[in-house]
Amino acid sequence: MDTGFRIAVIGAGASGIMALIRLAEAGYEDVVCFEKADDLGGTWRDNRYPGVACDVPSHAYRYSFAPNPDWTHVWATGEELLAYFREVAERRDVVRRIRFGHEALSARFEDGRWRLETSQGPQGAFDVVVTATGVLHHPVVPEIEGLQDFRGRAFHTARWPEDETLEGKRVAVIGSGSTATQLVGAATGRTARLSLFQRTAQWILPLPNKEIPPERREEFRADPEALAAEYDKLNRRQVELFAAAIVNENPGAYAKLVEACEAHVATVADPELRARLTPDYQVGCKRLVMSSEFYEAIQRPNAELVVDPIRRILPGGIETEDGVVREFDVIVLATGFDTHRFFRPMRVEGPGGATLDEAWAEANRSYLTVATPGFPNWFMIGGPSSPIGNFSWLMTAETQFDYILALIGRVARGEARALAPRAEAMDRFEAAARERVQDTVWASGCRSWYIDRNGHVASWPWTFERFADVLRAPDWRDFEDVLAPVE
Ligand code: NAP
Repeated sequence: MDTGFRIAVIGAGASGIMALIRLAEAGYEDVVCFEKADDLGGTWRDNRYPGVACDVPSHAYRYSFAPNPDWTHVWATGEELLAYFREVAERRDVVRRIRFGHEALSARFEDGRWRLETSQGPQGAFDVVVTATGVLHHPVVPEIEGLQDFRGRAFHTARWPEDETLEGKRVAVIGSGSTATQLVGAATGRTARLSLFQRTAQWILPLPNKEIPPERREEFRADPEALAAEYDKLNRRQVELFAAAIVNENPGAYAKLVEACEAHVATVADPELRARLTPDYQVGCKRLVMSSEFYEAIQRPNAELVVDPIRRILPGGIETEDGVVREFDVIVLATGFDTHRFFRPMRVEGPGGATLDEAWAEANRSYLTVATPGFPNWFMIGGPSSPIGNFSWLMTAETQFDYILALIGRVARGEARALAPRAEAMDRFEAAARERVQDTVWASGCRSWYIDRNGHVASWPWTFERFADVLRAPDWRDFEDVLAPVE
């Protein structure tokens, strides 16, 4: 029989692990995390392609409660990041709370609690559900004629076969986002030849990845204050300069970004190649790509940039619209993610039977990114309109979770049974966000994963300071207890 206050966390990536640790600190004992894969780590578990790294500086990409003096590079590799999350989860003893191989399939709000079902069957009832399902985890496999008939290996970058090294192979990379750029930078040295099929050019900020010298790491180990100061410095730079520049709050910093990107592409020697690599939209409209290796790699004799659209995939290679056929052993789909699905295809049914798919039929909508009307005690880390620009997701997730903890506390103390934001509060937030986003560079005319199927830019359109400020504490007037007796 279910007794006590039960919390379900969905997803054991960076934000799910954080939620488990913070819930344990807050004294919540009955917490279960459902993870569809057989390991933790989310995006850093899934992305194993050559060159994978984080483009947020390592010392700024860490949990506030687990600073790490041991980062070896200014930008940590995927492997190092996965090791960090694993180590923290183990040290804080939360792995035992994770049920691996449980894909969350449905949740139904019944008698004041969420009844959850996973791929391994019904899991009972929970008072609160916290979704920590990330943004970049539903790979987009493009619909290109003939893809299924390709004789060689074809796979998405987030499904990299463990034994695939690309050594000596003829490789096609489809897509030119952050992933493709990192991959090309790392792979051309080992492939026989590599063709990058680019649909849209990208602005690329040069970002040399230096080693953090062992003496500096020693200093961070010995002096936590030096480590904290490093975080503050990097974080300030990221939030005050970079993030503010992108949302049109720091024109001077934005001008510097533009200058740096333009100067970078100007280093490409061949004018024709340079022209093909130069975007025709504003810097920052798509998520800015960071790489110091890409331009050099694409200019190697064994590399080629293809801009003719793909007509179809043949058993032995790729045919472009100009009729040219190139033969390949491997096709890598660096085609990105469906960032608007969140925790779906999970079916979420609120009190009265309305589903989240119905509520979000027009667009994904949230109140302050963490909750949505009609779905009480259902709280989201990284919900719609979260800040998804070029800064630390961990900082976003922790800020949201502090707020969520305040909501959970109210339910746990019995001050509310079924807490949800009021519809008018969400409408107010959504209307303000939609208006403000029009002034950002994201809405200046390009295709990007920030934009939903209706053309709406679904990212926090203000500064990060404002995000931290409005999420400091809930304004209870914007919430209602949907099970409270009507007075
Ligand atoms: P992405 O930025 O969405 O890029 C996908 C690429 O695939 C785009 O170039 C897109 O072209 C192309 N594409 C999609 N469908 C296609 C089709 N049918 N035919 C031809 N081209 C197609 O995806 P991503 O590179 O995986 O990056 C996603 C996000 O992950 C990044 O923005 C970043 O937030 C994160 N990430 C970060 C790092 C890092 O920290 N360094 C590394 C990798 C990823 P269009 O541009 O024309 O749509």
